[in-house]
Amino acid sequence: MIPRRYAVRLAAGAAWAVAVTTVLAGPASATHDFRMPSTGDGGRRGPLAGRTIEIDAGHQLGDHNFPREIARLVPAGGFKKPCNTTGTATNGGYPEATFNWHVARLLRSRLLALGADVRMTRHSNRQDRWGPCVNVRGRDGNRIHADLKISIHGDGSYVAGAHGFHVIAPTNRRPWTHDIFRSSRRLALDTRAALRRVGLHVANYIAGGDGLDFRSDLATINLSNMPTVMVECGNMRNARDAKRMTSRSGRARYARGLAHAVRHFLG
Ligand SMILES: [Zn+2]
Repeated sequence: MIPRRYAVRLAAGAAWAVAVTTVLAGPASATHDFRMPSTGDGGRRGPLAGRTIEIDAGHQLGDHNFPREIARLVPAGGFKKPCNTTGTATNGGYPEATFNWHVARLLRSRLLALGADVRMTRHSNRQDRWGPCVNVRGRDGNRIHADLKISIHGDGSYVAGAHGFHVIAPTNRRPWTHDIFRSSRRLALDTRAALRRVGLHVANYIAGGDGLDFRSDLATINLSNMPTVMVECGNMRNARDAKRMTSRSGRARYARGLAHAVRHFLG
């Protein structure tokens, strides 16, 4: 779940950058989820050989155990936002962070099998971990010019009958996303088509009801320099969506659809 429109004007950018660098560069603490090197070993075979895909499994299972850490404000693209949020869950208590993690790993396996190099923004789903922060997720892959980024989430709407998936892409906003909004829109269209092809329905409660939403308040998208989408795979508070999202076959279907989208987008 991605909270809407939460913004504070960016005050002292430089001071913040120093603070973050110190945190990231410090000794690996038991609570913070550090990125590990990508799987890139070159020489892979397959239709996606030579391609690098960023997968962002939204939130972290332990975020709720570290309220101070995840509340800290970080740059989000001309404004500040909290480092991370806890994510939602099904009414039965299945955490969104775990759903995101499971689908991300299934997608990773599929993309590796197609020859791609895959980077994950987090490498654990644990109660004693928090983060990474949304600005770190946003910048991840920029330096290595990854080909695209898919951020995986589950929504938590209490609107009666609200169900289905939607795909979020950036608006055209200088100087943050003017360079990626067209390609991200194309990726969003491919993602929507691919998820539909595996039998999933677009959300009946978001924006124009066409399964697409264009936003400017998300750091994971705003700070990204590659085609980027965030996918709300379903409404975890809806019984039918929750049944699919808590099942192995259901999660496999999301991963299959997302792998199709990547293949189609990268031609
Ligand atoms: Zn989420």
